[in-house]
Amino acid sequence: MARIVVIGAGVGGLATAARLAVTGHEVTVFERADTVGGKLGRYVHDTPDGAYHFDTGPSLLTLPQVFHDLFEATGAKLDEYLDLTPLDPIVRHVFPGGGPTLDSCADPAEFAARIGATLGDRSAADWQRLWRRAARVWEASHRDILRRPIDSPRDLAALAWRLGDLAAIGPGRTLRGLGRSHLSDPRLRMLLDRYATYTGADPRRAPAALVAVPYAELAYGGWYLRGGLGTLADALLSRCLDLGVVVQTGTTVTRIDATGGRVHGVRLAGVAAPVPADAVVANVDALTLYRDLLPSPRRLAGLGDRSLAGFVLLLGVRGDTGLAHHNVFFPRDYDAEFDAVFGDPGRGIRARPALDPTVFVTVADDPSVRPDGHEAWFVLVNAARHGTAAGAVDWRRPGLAEAYADRILDVLAERGVDVRDRLVFREIRTPADLDAATGAPGGAIYGTAGGLLRPANRGPAAGLWLVGGSGHPGGGLPMVTLSAEIVAQDIGPAW
Ligand SMILES: Cc1cc2nc3c(=O)[nH]c(=O)nc-3n(C[C@H](O)[C@H](O)[C@H](O)COP(=O)(O)OP(=O)(O)OC[C@H]3O[C@@H](n4cnc5c(N)ncnc54)[C@H](O)[C@@H]3O)c2cc1C
Repeated sequence: MARIVVIGAGVGGLATAARLAVTGHEVTVFERADTVGGKLGRYVHDTPDGAYHFDTGPSLLTLPQVFHDLFEATGAKLDEYLDLTPLDPIVRHVFPGGGPTLDSCADPAEFAARIGATLGDRSAADWQRLWRRAARVWEASHRDILRRPIDSPRDLAALAWRLGDLAAIGPGRTLRGLGRSHLSDPRLRMLLDRYATYTGADPRRAPAALVAVPYAELAYGGWYLRGGLGTLADALLSRCLDLGVVVQTGTTVTRIDATGGRVHGVRLAGVAAPVPADAVVANVDALTLYRDLLPSPRRLAGLGDRSLAGFVLLLGVRGDTGLAHHNVFFPRDYDAEFDAVFGDPGRGIRARPALDPTVFVTVADDPSVRPDGHEAWFVLVNAARHGTAAGAVDWRRPGLAEAYADRILDVLAERGVDVRDRLVFREIRTPADLDAATGAPGGAIYGTAGGLLRPANRGPAAGLWLVGGSGHPGGGLPMVTLSAEIVAQDIGPAW
């Protein structure tokens, strides 16, 4: 049996801990916050009419098989813990200038028919051509990348990709470029562009291989967990505790001890004695790991672009607005939004709050999360990360968050959904708040922005692993859960 310390009780940390415990390791998780789940956060707002329950992070679960596999591997059945509910529409897309909306769904033929009815037959045919390509990219990446460690460009180059896979992946091509070459309708291109942001990236720089993201969502469905996505954190904690994992919240790890090229344990804030360990799994952002916990200038320099962050409103809304579960309201000028969110020093563009952003509204059709006759709205706008460097915005600047919240409500009203007179309350979560709550530097949702080569799961010292959204294979709940599978397999059963 090996003593393993996991730093952080995000989904990646908890999933790794459960997988390691079931193979006989003695596992302790240290979590700086008072609750587990990390970015999979929750918030309850009480009112005289009743309580509003919000997911403050993820609202859409994809690739459910990944979670079934996790529970199965730890000796349990997912259905005993979670109530998975398929969504149709997965997302309602509202385009600029009015016109019909487009509802995505998990049936490819039906989605193509909906595209045809909304945007015309040519668009439906365009989408089907893109879909065939996306399927090839998904098959290749699922087979060769998502379930194994990829440590270096050499590992990527050594993959035995068939020529057809490589042609589909289109190395060197961007997602934007792929959209331009396959889709004639600008609305469909917007829909495709948006998937780059699911990995924290700008579609104008993100690799074309990210076409696998819509494929995964639309082929395997988009799901809600009744009671909120936060129930996943409860379920993972419960699995860990049943398997004997020690989970210590309110405990910050300040350093990883490593000498002679191998880790020996960790140091905790306010505790003099070191905590010995045979292996350490860091579920923190790679930036935190290599800047603060185990300074590694080379790893730090190779982290790549930072992910975008998010500006969130939690709203109590009177009445029934008739919105779908997920609604995306696109802007007139998507590129202006990307310029604002990412900045571009080369073109003299500073990052700033986008004036006319895409607005994503989630209204769960679930009576358990809101009082009768009311709705609990989660509103998410992509935003520059928090900070004072180029490419960031100082979200603590007095008055900025309130003014931007007003602006987003005005934008929604301009796009036909005016709830300004129906608000019971509004709460704001800026990127700076996400940083403070989850330790995500600058509130960058996915750590590093999407790409095929992300920070490796194996650390620079023997006995150190990185798990979670900033590392391989990527951010988002299923990828993070796959990273836990990769790390637990790499560590192997108790020795
Ligand atoms: C607003 C928002 C919307 C999202 N929407 C979706 C979605 O719809 N679907 C989807 O799949 N994904 C979504 N995501 C992404 C998803 O939430 C993340 O990719 C995933 O939850 C990250 O998990 P993780 O394992 O990387 O750990 P994290 O959640 O980053 O957790 C890391 C943990 O480490 C702890 N920690 C940090 N430093 C220390 C330290 N020094 N000592 C001890 N503990 C420490 C933190 O407190 C935290 O609990 C969204 C995220 C956000 C913020």
